[in-house]
Amino acid sequence: MLAPSALRPRYRRLVSARVVIVLAPTCDLVLEIFLGLNGVTSRRLQSKPAHRNRIIGLFADPEGALGEATKRSLHLPQLMSILGRETCDARPMGLERPCVLTIAAVDRKPSALMNKGSCPTEQILSLLQEELAEFINLVGAQVLHRAPAPDGALTRVHRQGAARANFGSVNPTTGQSMSFDYDFIIIGSGFGGSVSALRLIDKGYRVLVLEKGSELKADDFPKSNWNLKRWLWMPSLGFRGLFQIRIFRHVTVLAGVGVGGGSLVYANTLPIPKRGFFESPSWAHLADWELELRPHYATARRMLGAVPNPTFTPVDRIIKEVAEETGNPFDKTHVAVYFGESGKTVPDPYFNGEGPERTGCNMCGGCMLGCPHGSKNTLDKNYLYLARKRGLDLHANAEVHGVEPLRGGGYQVRARHGRSRLRRRRRSYTARNVIFSAGVLGTVELLLRLKKDPKGLPKLSKRLGAKIRTNSESLIGVIGQQREHDLSRGIAIGSIIQTDEHSHLEPVRYPAGSGVFRTMLAPHVTGQNFAIRLARLLATIARHPIRTLRAATVPDMAKYSMILLYMRSTEGTLRFRLGKLARKHMGSDVETGVTPTASIPEATKLAERIAAKIDGDSFSLLTETILNTPTTAHILGGCCMGDSPVNGVIDRNHRVFGYDGLYVIDGSAISANPGVNPSLTITALAERAMARIPSKADLEGNSPPGREPQKG
Ligand SMILES: Cc1cc2nc3c(=O)[nH]c(=O)nc-3n(C[C@H](O)[C@H](O)[C@H](O)COP(=O)(O)OP(=O)(O)OC[C@H]3O[C@@H](n4cnc5c(N)ncnc54)[C@H](O)[C@@H]3O)c2cc1C
Ligand code: SF4
Repeated sequence: MLAPSALRPRYRRLVSARVVIVLAPTCDLVLEIFLGLNGVTSRRLQSKPAHRNRIIGLFADPEGALGEATKRSLHLPQLMSILGRETCDARPMGLERPCVLTIAAVDRKPSALMNKGSCPTEQILSLLQEELAEFINLVGAQVLHRAPAPDGALTRVHRQGAARANFGSVNPTTGQSMSFDYDFIIIGSGFGGSVSALRLIDKGYRVLVLEKGSELKADDFPKSNWNLKRWLWMPSLGFRGLFQIRIFRHVTVLAGVGVGGGSLVYANTLPIPKRGFFESPSWAHLADWELELRPHYATARRMLGAVPNPTFTPVDRIIKEVAEETGNPFDKTHVAVYFGESGKTVPDPYFNGEGPERTGCNMCGGCMLGCPHGSKNTLDKNYLYLARKRGLDLHANAEVHGVEPLRGGGYQVRARHGRSRLRRRRRSYTARNVIFSAGVLGTVELLLRLKKDPKGLPKLSKRLGAKIRTNSESLIGVIGQQREHDLSRGIAIGSIIQTDEHSHLEPVRYPAGSGVFRTMLAPHVTGQNFAIRLARLLATIARHPIRTLRAATVPDMAKYSMILLYMRSTEGTLRFRLGKLARKHMGSDVETGVTPTASIPEATKLAERIAAKIDGDSFSLLTETILNTPTTAHILGGCCMGDSPVNGVIDRNHRVFGYDGLYVIDGSAISANPGVNPSLTITALAERAMARIPSKADLEGNSPPGREPQKG
């Protein structure tokens, strides 16, 4: 059991929050937590021990939300009936016996509430509700039972507030119950969509996920990327694989497609961004992101099964040497891989037996082709797997093309089902709420089209498509002349050099036999204009014709090369808009800062150093060498957060401005440049967004006593 003194620092940051209603503790330790928060509170608690087990204090900061609430005659008992009495299982907090917590928190941003002097009651209540959910999440407690709120005027206010937030199925004008096919429809099954699916199912909602890609099993994955039909997503050619390449004027974007989204092709690497990301002026005014996301990062890593990479390959040795020579820190990556005993299959090691069996990683290097061995923790093996087991409906090969508001609330979602373009069926569904989780390429393009459609979502913010971030990446391949080491063995990304506060480099690999990128490469040269790059390209070939030819015809590129992924967190954004000619498709413009470039001198220098170690030469994709267009696997933004539709598409809780019950929860909601691989952050943000949605039973006020929440 944790001593109170050990617990206290965990909550120290809360001191700055205004804890406004105090709890009814039956346990001294709970008292102790709050002693650290508010001296007045603790004295009152101590002076009235007989009053334990019921609410004994209200300490409203007159400037805070509750102060405002009390000024408006919302008295404590009424407020408590609205918020509900939380009976928490305090064991995760290290307490020996369960205790009763009745808490309301916290107004960290009074200005957000006060709204220039007017502070609508429902707004206060809905924010308090959110804060309560967040607090419970933060202290790691589990809500076992929430007492139903009694009927009455304030309850009505609360219910209306909930209807406005579209969590329930109540017509906000008539108060009548409405019938929808689902409470939530989620578009896309990547990181944002999968987290949302599981958490909403666990909160008792009826949820449907529509995914345009296929559901791929171990046998469906390509053995090498030469198998274009299984690897690429190009449905117009009948290729329904898992990897999509889209070329824009200013960036080439790589993305995953299929049940599990980008997790199918991703390189498993799950870092937490540095502080600058959380404090970026683009979103720091909306929340204390570092504090708020901390518990959700921990949940995300647990759910995705992320562990420090326990292996060390020849590539990691080279990276370590370069780190030492350049005086930069070397790290192993945190990766979502089950290592166990190589090749040995075991029952689910992650979710108390509820998940699928797993097989120990054999270091084949195939992570980015979809792991056929059952070792990579893709979303279909954790979030989606559990959600489906617990009642999620999921349709693969179902591409959403329409979302239309219904009169009286809710939405109609239209999708095309089927693998063949010629034999696709159109189906529509209704839902109270819709979550866009189709990734930047899917969500932003669909919303741009819906904004143009008068029957679609024409009121979407004008900021839609703005602040697209490329993570400022550069991809350089180094093809070695030596043939003695097989560089393809290992997980996709095993190590990392922190080159400075804002940038780092990761070596990436494909499995042996995967050489298709060879057909798209040219010697890596830098230079800001085409003439310079062309001259340098020709000069390189003229200087080393044999080496260049030998590299270009390397028998197995994956075995004898290293792909270097360089990322940095500098600013500079693009804007996606509907194409000028083909208005169905997106195009790009430069929005702020410098145009993203493939010429990053720091990356080139590192590549040269690494090339020297394997007697190699640097190559880049033709689009980078010829056009200077960078390639990114980490496209982000386009539906960024703001405090109003003037400066954002969604609010800090991912709710779309202008449309109740619409959310964006995926990479397009990322509102600053993480400068690192973003999937963990997308997962943590989705966990945070979901923690703010009350359970269906809570909304309907009919939570059965003692209902056990499901774990996982
Ligand atoms: C090769 C590669 C390696 C990567 N490696 C890493 C890594 O190591 N670490 C990391 O953090 N990130 C990595 N990434 C990036 C990571 O995959 C993405 O950042 C992440 O998947 C984005 O998550 P998301 O929730 O935004 O949506 P996604 O995971 O992109 O999922 C969106 C889903 O929506 C579906 N969809 C799109 N439109 C529609 C529609 N209209 N109807 C229905 N469904 C639709 C798509 O098919 C897709 O399945 C990598 C990416 C690539 C391409
Ligand atoms: S290295 Fe191979 S076995 Fe290991 S996770 Fe990647 S694809 Fe799966």
